[in-house]
Parts: sequence; structure tokens; C-alpha cells
Amino acid sequence: MEYKIPRGTFDILPADSAKWQQVMSAFRETAQAFGYAEITTPVFEQAELFERSSGESSDVVQKEMYRFQDRKGRWLALRPEGTAPVVRSYVENHLEAQGRLTKLYYIGPMFRYDRPQAGRYRQFYQYGAECIGSHHPYYDAEIIALQVAFLRKLGLQKIELEINSVGCPNCSKIYDEALENYFEPHKEELCGDCRTRLQTKPRRLLDCKVPSCKAIAKGAPVMTDYLDSDCREHFEQVKSYLDKMDISYKVNPRIVRGLDYYTHTAFEFLNPALGAQNAIGGGGRYDGLIAQIGGKDTPAVGIAGGFERLLLSLEQEGITVSRPYRPQAYLVLLGEAARESGIRLLGQLRLSGFSVQHDPEKDSFKAQLKAADSSQARFALIIGEDEVKAGTVTIKDLAAGTQMSLPIGGVAQFLALS
Ligand SMILES: [Zn+2]
Ligand SMILES: [Zn+2]
Repeated sequence: MEYKIPRGTFDILPADSAKWQQVMSAFRETAQAFGYAEITTPVFEQAELFERSSGESSDVVQKEMYRFQDRKGRWLALRPEGTAPVVRSYVENHLEAQGRLTKLYYIGPMFRYDRPQAGRYRQFYQYGAECIGSHHPYYDAEIIALQVAFLRKLGLQKIELEINSVGCPNCSKIYDEALENYFEPHKEELCGDCRTRLQTKPRRLLDCKVPSCKAIAKGAPVMTDYLDSDCREHFEQVKSYLDKMDISYKVNPRIVRGLDYYTHTAFEFLNPALGAQNAIGGGGRYDGLIAQIGGKDTPAVGIAGGFERLLLSLEQEGITVSRPYRPQAYLVLLGEAARESGIRLLGQLRLSGFSVQHDPEKDSFKAQLKAADSSQARFALIIGEDEVKAGTVTIKDLAAGTQMSLPIGGVAQFLALS
């Protein structure tokens, strides 16, 4: 039996780990700088949480969710997205009691049964942030600014921001009727999925990737023409805050987002160089979601993005984010007596937090020094017969080629100061 990794998943191999850690830390630092605190929820939840929040008819629930029964027959789902679990935790743990505004961020794997392709996987890693407790348009702009700051911190230059307003339940009802009237005469030309969507959620037709549906959707009415005055005013305010924060954007009335819970602001970050899978993040306001899953009526706005396409974008822009890991020292031991005191020194240094490498299977001086070089350590700590007799260690600076002698008890202090 030859075991293979499941389709649509990937290993983060040691050579790539530094890069992943770097982008994840960059997000943590940015989110913390904006006043967000980290929250971690389980990778699986009650399936119903997503069915209710994302919408029963959404593609996520219908086609992409990993849904399974545990041994007691409970229906669970691997989380396809991060917002519903965070909101579930917010409600369940009464985080609203800690203050009017709750700002949370998360990082972790999400799961969707989707056709794998470049930048799209069945297990993928997302970052996200949620600002819960205010309807104020300032927070829509602030959370967009968080995402912009994160992308800039990584050095990405070619990212475009597109924003839209999808309105509130009042104006979207009128808009959905307008869409129905528009698509009805084209019913026969639509794909099977879209014919169903026309009955359940006409807005989903705008998201269809089938070319013939896309062509028809081109002429469909746009949401921004159907916003009521409150929604229009909210959208104007968001744009004005973005202007003040010096964040450039394009209004794209076609942005709908695939999940049912979005209201008002919806936005996407695009990297045009990535081709068909060009969305590298986005988010929006979801004022109805918290009440919908059993909390008090609480407005909120959030962002999310995947790390896979982010790393692709970094590669394309020629940005290297990883600092390769380098040990501080490599221990070279010659002879039995040296091994005695050397291993003792190695133990002490490591328990004190220093990064020191050693390979007992390499005997010759030449082989050990070669290993020291390829480990990229800064110093070689050399102990031979002479050093054992004198109670010293020869310290060789591997880059400069210089060396010096120190009493064995002074090595820790030397490493701490270099
Ligand atoms: Zn409205
Ligand atoms: Zn279609």
C-alpha cells in the first residue's frame, strides 16, 4: 500500500515553513496593531451553524461543505469559512458583556470540497478579522485599512480593491425582484443551477461562472441603483472614510459575495496577475448574522483572505519573505575526552535557550567543519585534546574565518552577547 496525500491538500514542507510563519506573523502583528485580539475555534462545528448562516441554497452548503456524522449520529461540518464559528463563540461566551465593541482575528485551516486548481485547495489556510458591535461606517473603512496594511507590510504593490454595497434586507428585496424580472425571459438560456437560483436566490446568478450565464448577467440591473437612502448614505460614508485614510478603491456594483449574510459594504482584493483565481481576500458587513444564529441583534463587519494566493502573489512580485533559520553555533568534537565535556556543554547551552547543532556520526575535523558551514551557523565551537586539557573552547567565526579561545564556562555568555 502506497499512501498519498488526499486530493486538494498539501504539506507545508520544512523548506516552506519559514515563509508561512512569516506571513502569519505579519497578519498577527497588523491585527494586533489595529486593536484586534486572537480567537481560535475548532475546525468542526455543528453542520447547522453553516447551513443557517451561509444559506441553505449557497454553493458552499450545497456542494462544498464536508458534512459528516460522528459516532453518536450528530451532524458536523469541517468549517468552510471562519466568520460563523467566531460569531457562534461570541454569542456562546457572551463576549458582548466585555464591551460595546469586540474586535477579533483568527488564523487557521478551512475546508471546501471544490475542484482543485492553482491557488485553490480543499484544505486551505485563512486569516480573518471581525469587528462586532457597531454599524458605524468608520469600522467598514478601518477593517479594510487593516487588510491594506497587512498586504503592504508584506510588500505587495499590485493589489486592487473593489467595493460595493449590497444594501439591507429592505432594498435587496426590491433588487431581487428586479433581477427576477430581468432573468425570467432568459430562463431557457440559463444553466441548470441558475434556473434553481432564479427561484431561490436570484442574486446568485450574478456569481455564475458558466459563460452563457455570465453573458446574460452582464446586462442585469445593479444593486447600487436600488439602495434606499440609509444604505446609500452608509456607502457614501464608507467611501469618504477610505478617501480620508488614503486608500484607493474602485466601485464595482457586481461584487455580491457568495454567502447570504452580507449586508451593506462588500469588498474584494484582487491581484489581476493571478488570472481566473484572482481574488486574494475580501469581506463585508453582516449586520443580520448574529441575531440569525441566536444572539442579540448586533451589527458587524469582517475581512478574510487565503494565504495560498497571497504566497503566489508574493512569488509573482518577486518578494522573498522568509528569513532562513540559522543556528547560532555548531559543536565540533575531536576525540573521546572532548565528547565527554562537549556533550555536557551542548546540553547546558540548549537548556539555556541557545541554538546549537551537533552530529555525533561525523568523526573527522574536516567533515564536522563542513557540516558547520552548511548548517549556516555563525560560530563553530571546537573542542579537541588541547582544549580538554586547558578547559577551553576554540570559537571560530565561520563567516569571518577568525578564531579565539575561551574558558568553557564563558561560552554561554559569549553567545548571549554576540
Ligand atoms: Zn437598504
Ligand atoms: Zn449559471
